[in-house]
Amino acid sequence: MINQKNYGLGTARSAIRELFEYGKKQASILGADKVFDFSLGNPSTPAPKAVDEAIADIVKNSDPIAVHGYTSAPGSIETRTAIADSINRRFGMDAKADEIYITCGAAAALCCTLSALTFSSEAEIIAIAPFFPEYRVFTEGAGAKFKVVDADTVGFQIDFEKLEASITDNTAGVIINSPNNPSGVVYSEDTIRKLADLLDRKSKETNHPIYIICDEPYRELVYGDIEVPYVPKYYDNTVVCYSYSKSLSLPGERIGYIYVPSSCEDAKAVYAAAAGAGRAMGYVCAPSLLQTVIARCIDVQPDLTDYKINRKLLLDNLTSYGYKCAAPDGAFYLFLKAPNGDGNAFSEMAKKKNVLVVPGESFGCKDYVRISYCVATETIKGALPYFKELIEEC
Ligand code: PLP
Repeated sequence: MINQKNYGLGTARSAIRELFEYGKKQASILGADKVFDFSLGNPSTPAPKAVDEAIADIVKNSDPIAVHGYTSAPGSIETRTAIADSINRRFGMDAKADEIYITCGAAAALCCTLSALTFSSEAEIIAIAPFFPEYRVFTEGAGAKFKVVDADTVGFQIDFEKLEASITDNTAGVIINSPNNPSGVVYSEDTIRKLADLLDRKSKETNHPIYIICDEPYRELVYGDIEVPYVPKYYDNTVVCYSYSKSLSLPGERIGYIYVPSSCEDAKAVYAAAAGAGRAMGYVCAPSLLQTVIARCIDVQPDLTDYKINRKLLLDNLTSYGYKCAAPDGAFYLFLKAPNGDGNAFSEMAKKKNVLVVPGESFGCKDYVRISYCVATETIKGALPYFKELIEEC
């Protein structure tokens, strides 16, 4: 006898993984240069040199037992202090080490936070389309109900009328993600203020705090003169889920954190519940070598050179062919309106030309497709003529 729900999750691949696996198979038949795979959000820029040097130095020159040993369950005090200090320097907060819980990336941070906030089996978590598809899995895994608010497809900010209509007495939290996967859009300060006002009002009406779960693995990946508002400065009941997967190109190393600011209602209890969830799921003591690396490299910033080149190349060409997309101010994705109005059909058409773009359906926007431009620039150059053909065929 096995758990059928988990069996279902373990045997069904996500649309993204499905395409990625298909791409690998096609590449082995046709040759890698004949397949244009834009499916995965795997950083194409190597980790900064300072990170690799820190890894080498730590392994070579530290106590050989401590370097790979367990840290305390929420993470080493040195790393949590370094993270808290950096939050304070950058965002003018008053973070303390004991408000930081180090995790295996944003995925674990979200799972622990969602589990912490699931106050009953009726609790609801709201996501705003377009959203990272794993939110549904994480939310349902935490035992809460997952609700989706349709996208504002004009500017890909938030449709506040729809959000307000979806809030009930059971709403535990709203997950936001900016810069956004898949749209690349950054929520404006005006959007964050409106969200804070709405949730303040609704928290009073429902008589309990409605938390913002702020998922921000792409915070550092922004292009041009764009500010990404730091949400805890606008809304007290915010829990931040951060990851170094994208900013330091370390997705396989599994390192990130939860920050529960003291401004949160019941902050200590929320932190303890997140730590308890981590304990229950075995997410304790994130990789210790990486914790030490993060403490050393806390001020290292990503090199955006390649993403900037790719973004411009794609954006300039695709829009000149007539494609429409959301303002891609951050992350490394372009969210394209399918020219035939159907993301699934368009993705299939593109697949026939070995151009792999993810249908928008799993992100909650059927009419769109996602292009990940964290690829070699040559892949974009090779795919452009096919994108031109595709729009002409629609
Ligand atoms: N949240 C978003 C929006 C993502 O795009 C991803 C990964 O692609 C994650 C969370 C998970 O990140 P991590 O690799 O840090 O677990």
